[in-house]
Amino acid sequence: MRHADSALDLHDIAGMRSMVDAILHPAAVLRPCGDSVEFIATNCRFDQFLLDRNAEPSPGDEAQRAGWIPRIHAVAMGQEDALQFDLDYGSALGPRTYSASVARIVLPGGSGPLALFTAIDRSDASRIEKVLRRELLTDMLTALPNRAGFLEEVETRDARPQVGHAIITVDLVRFSRINESLGSIAGDEIIITVARRIKSILRAGDVLGRVGGNEFAIHSTDVSGMDDVLQIANRVRAALATPIRISSYLINVEAAVGCALANGDEDDAEELFRRAQAAVKRSKQSGAFEVYRPSTLIEAQERFNLESRLRDALAQDALHLDFQPFVSLATGEVVGFEALARWNDAELGFVSPVKFIPVAEESGLILPLGRWALRKAAEHLAHWDRQFGGRVPLTLNVNVSPVQIARDDVADAVREALLASGVDGARVTVEVTESALVTDIDKTRRLLNALKAMDLTIAMDDFGTGFSNLANLQMLPIDVLKIDRSFVNGMVDDGDKVAIVRAILSLAGALGMRTVAEGIETAEVGQALADLGCDRGQGYHYARPMSADDAFAFWRDRYKPAT
Ligand code: C2E
Ligand code: MG
Ligand code: MG
Repeated sequence: MRHADSALDLHDIAGMRSMVDAILHPAAVLRPCGDSVEFIATNCRFDQFLLDRNAEPSPGDEAQRAGWIPRIHAVAMGQEDALQFDLDYGSALGPRTYSASVARIVLPGGSGPLALFTAIDRSDASRIEKVLRRELLTDMLTALPNRAGFLEEVETRDARPQVGHAIITVDLVRFSRINESLGSIAGDEIIITVARRIKSILRAGDVLGRVGGNEFAIHSTDVSGMDDVLQIANRVRAALATPIRISSYLINVEAAVGCALANGDEDDAEELFRRAQAAVKRSKQSGAFEVYRPSTLIEAQERFNLESRLRDALAQDALHLDFQPFVSLATGEVVGFEALARWNDAELGFVSPVKFIPVAEESGLILPLGRWALRKAAEHLAHWDRQFGGRVPLTLNVNVSPVQIARDDVADAVREALLASGVDGARVTVEVTESALVTDIDKTRRLLNALKAMDLTIAMDDFGTGFSNLANLQMLPIDVLKIDRSFVNGMVDDGDKVAIVRAILSLAGALGMRTVAEGIETAEVGQALADLGCDRGQGYHYARPMSADDAFAFWRDRYKPAT
């Protein structure tokens, strides 16, 4: 190796040689020279280091190629005090990684710019790091990328320009049951088989990962639209359709499949993956292949579905009424029942009125529903009379929506219900909410007066939650205030609630109205209300809403005829 040592005295050079010889790693003293460097002193490890790099013995070119020349210049010329950087290259012994550093050397005699270069071999450490990293990103059972590995893969592939891409998630439904009944070894075998089967239907360039215990995900970078994704989903389903044999068992695996197509508005791979998971979650419920849709769209579709099923349910008379008693707080006697609409749908299951009444109100279905509820409630009361063999001393409360008041002839509907059942108006209470007063006060007043003329009782439901003004309240023929359950629930520990209840009770007293407290869930609350002078109570503490037959039995078991 040629050393340019012209500007330095031999003593200096010998000193530098012994310095680099004493260093246990490749080391060299270098001096900038034009665009290149001169090698002033090198140790044998450095010579080996250069040889390893496949270098012809032309160190200048070699150094140039590695890109460390400018760094040596910068340090030697005093632009930088010292620098550290990694050097990676392939050698005959495989990839090597060096941690290199360059420091400035200043000799007492002012020898010109010099730098000391050293390189520490970190190849082994870096190899272990890589292995560990690969393990961290790999599922040991299937050797597929795990969730982190899959996402990293998607993220890097994402960067390439491509037609379109999508994540398809496959979830093995009820897999935990297989694990529980056949053991985890059988479970593992199934996972391996499923991985192999899915892998066999992938197209070139698709990436498969095991992203959860029983969840796989495919990233496909060549999808031009829905059709492509649907095809992949169908192939996955077909691949899993044949039962898997585990010793003497044939196991049917059922898979939910969901997908999210990238459309450019998702921030990263993680987001696309979350969307695919949301789709697969829906697939678990629906049993069908699901594509991710934003929640606003889902809500609109669900509402539409709810509306059309409710329309059918009404047409097929598939709704029924439950009855919840209210009792006299002074005597505990059952004085009446509130009729509450119930809907058990074949597809949707039990749907709460809290959900379907607003849909009925928005769609206008509340008109037939409201008429139906009035008619049915009166029919049940007439039926109880027949069962009892006389007039049962009960009143029946029916809810009437503000939309009915605004858009239907409620007085006519009531008249019809009374006529058809033979029940007289004095036994029926209509519950209206405060919002009825807010919408059209004149129409409401005309209606309530007409109902009073038929002897009905008028109750104000959920009182205290709306914004009715007290003047309106006084102008209307209201007989009963039903104190909303939000003030009743937990009132024994809440001074504010007690104060509100007290205020409503005294307001009712001043206006000559009776009071019912809703939502009494404990004996304590019932007692507290009785002490405050509330007339009646309703709530889970006395009974939950129940069928017409149960309601009749509930009343009769407690009925003590006056002697
Ligand atoms: P609402 O008229 O205030 O009826 C009372 C609601 O409170 C009922 O809920 C009842 O089950 C519930 N409840 C009773 N006691 C308790 C209790 O102790 N604790 C709690 N947490 N809740 C209690 P439901 O049956 O779900 O009805 C909800 C609402 O749907 C009703 O509130 C009413 O506004 C409406 N609704 C029900 N049926 C009809 C109907 O036929 N027509 C109209 N227009 N609305 C109806
Ligand atoms: Mg009510
Ligand atoms: Mg209420």
